[in-house]
Amino acid sequence: MEFLRATSVDEALAAAGDGAAFVAGGTNLVPDVLFGRKKIARAVDISRLDELRFIEEADGKIRIGALATVTDLLDSGLIRDAASPLYESALEFAGPLVRNRASVAGNLMDASPAADLAPPLLAQDAVVELASAEGERTLPLSEFFLDYRKTAARPEELMTAVVIDPLGTADRCAYYKLQLRRAMAIAVVGVAVILRMEESVCAEAAIGMGAVAAVPYRARAAEAHLRGKEIGEAEIEAAAAAAADGARPIDDVRASAAYRRKMCGVLVRRLLKKALGMPQIAAV
Ligand SMILES: Cc1cc2nc3c(=O)[nH]c(=O)nc-3n(C[C@H](O)[C@H](O)[C@H](O)COP(=O)(O)OP(=O)(O)OC[C@H]3O[C@@H](n4cnc5c(N)ncnc54)[C@H](O)[C@@H]3O)c2cc1C
Repeated sequence: MEFLRATSVDEALAAAGDGAAFVAGGTNLVPDVLFGRKKIARAVDISRLDELRFIEEADGKIRIGALATVTDLLDSGLIRDAASPLYESALEFAGPLVRNRASVAGNLMDASPAADLAPPLLAQDAVVELASAEGERTLPLSEFFLDYRKTAARPEELMTAVVIDPLGTADRCAYYKLQLRRAMAIAVVGVAVILRMEESVCAEAAIGMGAVAAVPYRARAAEAHLRGKEIGEAEIEAAAAAAADGARPIDDVRASAAYRRKMCGVLVRRLLKKALGMPQIAAV
């Protein structure tokens, strides 16, 4: 296997394609190659490309560079204040050693159904920026995950940044990663909820789901029960039922499909109530 340490984005793009793989933190790729799950002809190390490591506010958007690490998310006041579900997902991500290496783009490009950063980024309408020798393009994250570990990115494309709108004072949000222990655990279910309230009416609803289908996704049917409504118990129950219905989980060592499906409903109910400051137990 050939190894190339890119010193510029252009150099990385020139070396891409033909069985090459970009290496950012290497926390997925290195074990995949070592254990024979992935065969690559050339490793293109992008980890020293500092121009891809930033978190900034520009033109009213938050741009997160591809190489921003999970630790960088936790160190960012901007993420804590204006992307709190993403911040909370970073808190639950692996342990400090992995967080120091794991990049945002690596998490999305790896396209694990359980990628922790995906549900909050989906809920925040993230757009990814992709570059290749042919040029640049953007893609909504909701169109990025095509199938199990399959993305809409072409093999020669480098993810350069992820862009989100900052949350504002009208946004109510909540996040939860259901996991078998509090560190170094793969999600059993991950849910991020964002509600944009106009007085007592929910103007926009976004629910990102992880680990309960072949890809992370938006629970659109559940969102439809909330959008444009004054949200009470009935709307929350309808959204929770739709979230459970829409899940396509699998049985694995961590949980059964039936448990995962049930927890989709439970978590969506809890998180909607948490976001809205409602009591968790319905009044009788
Ligand atoms: C012990 C351990 C614990 C973990 N815990 C968690 C966890 O709690 N939650 C979680 O979600 N994940 C977890 N992971 C998985 C992994 O750490 C994350 O998915 C991480 O974000 C991957 O980022 P990376 O920079 O290491 O990616 P890499 O391993 O460098 O790359 C991953 C894939 O993305 C591609 N790639 C990377 N950057 C780019 C780019 N800019 N453009 C195009 N392609 C690119 C690579 O070619 C490769 O295919 C864990 C892994 C380990 C080993």
